Amino acid sequence: MRYQRPKGTADILPGESQHWQYVEAVARQVFKKYRFEEIRTPLFENFEVFSRTSGDTSDIVTKEMYDFKDKGDRHISLRPEGTAGVVRAFVENKLYGPEVQKPFKTYYMGQMYRYERPQSGRQREFHQIGVEAFGSDEPALDVEVIAMGRDLFKHFGIDNLRLAINTLGDKESRDSYRQALIDYLEPHYDELSEDSQVRLHKNPLRVLDSKDEKDKKFVADAPSILDYLTPAAQAHFDQVKSLLTALGIDYVVDSTMVRGLDYYNHTIFEFMVDSKALGHGYTTVCAGGRYNGLVEELGGPEVSGVGFGLGMERLILLMEAEGVQFPEEHHLDAYVVGIGDEANATTLQVVQALRSQDYSADRDYLARKPKAQFKTADRLSAAYTLTVGEAELAAKTIHVKNMASGNEVTAPLADVMTHFAEVISNID
Ligand code: ATP
Ligand code: MG
Repeated sequence: MRYQRPKGTADILPGESQHWQYVEAVARQVFKKYRFEEIRTPLFENFEVFSRTSGDTSDIVTKEMYDFKDKGDRHISLRPEGTAGVVRAFVENKLYGPEVQKPFKTYYMGQMYRYERPQSGRQREFHQIGVEAFGSDEPALDVEVIAMGRDLFKHFGIDNLRLAINTLGDKESRDSYRQALIDYLEPHYDELSEDSQVRLHKNPLRVLDSKDEKDKKFVADAPSILDYLTPAAQAHFDQVKSLLTALGIDYVVDSTMVRGLDYYNHTIFEFMVDSKALGHGYTTVCAGGRYNGLVEELGGPEVSGVGFGLGMERLILLMEAEGVQFPEEHHLDAYVVGIGDEANATTLQVVQALRSQDYSADRDYLARKPKAQFKTADRLSAAYTLTVGEAELAAKTIHVKNMASGNEVTAPLADVMTHFAEVISNID
């Protein structure tokens, strides 16, 4: 029996995992500048947390969810996205309360699960980094979130981004747009894809997001949401645009853009890139928007929110394809070569003593001959090679060589064990 990882999953091996750590570290730094703090929520939630928030007709709920009954007959889902769980936690932990600084700004990073057809940049287990800000209706907060997204990509070394924005308006705007869309699509009912026929009355906006060629030809001439905005929704969108301009952030308005999840209103946005690494044409690498009714949907008070999510697999593919310089891989500070069985205890003591002085250190565990050990030190690009042989053991010394300069010294063992910095300062 040969075991294989489940379809649509990936092993992130050493070498590659450094890239992931780098991306995570950069994201944490950027979020800190904007006062976003980390939240960690469960990888699974009650099914309803997602069905209520994503919408019963969304692809995620109808087709992509990993859901099951647990042994206690609870209907559980692996999380397909991050926002619903964060909102659930926000409500459950009363983070809207007076002791929490408003807006409440938080971020998450981790695995998500969707049953999809795997392809490049699309997996069944994948990772997202996301941010959410709760408790302000100000268009300035929408713009801060968008600006932070752009800042993040800049730190990742990606700046040829296309920012597309749109508005889904408030409930009143959406209701009248919805009707206009139904009126427009109804005469074409028979020509629509099966999915879109179902969506037509339940959720006609979803038809605009269809990837089916049958539906796509109706999207171009569909009525525009921008013609159905209430004065308040129009004002919000105008503010967002003028604040983006004030920050010198380029954008295009794409009035046919909707999001894959039902919970958005007012501002929605996507960052896209045109990179062969992700297929032809523009691919979305980060998407988000405002979701003013979501907290109430999960039983909380009327608190608005805005956020985004970005797919880490696509981001890292993109960074690698664009030739972004990831930081140098870690070298080993010290490799300790032991000659003969008698050196065994001492080499172990020395690596431990170096580690307790915060150096990275390693030694041989395969009873290799000295020559092979020196080779290993080389292969690990150890900055210093230390050697303990019969003579050193007898004299209670250890030989230390700076591999870059070739300088070497035989130092008292006790000095290396406690003051390695001083020992190497003589041979640097
Ligand atoms: P798509 O239209 O590509 O299916 P989506 O609208 O379903 O995307 P969102 O739910 O907005 O995507 O998720 C935000 C980001 O998460 C996407 O832009 C993408 O980078 C990433 N993402 C979504 N699904 C997957 C997946 N199955 N594998 C890898 N990354 C994904
Ligand atoms: Mg999708």
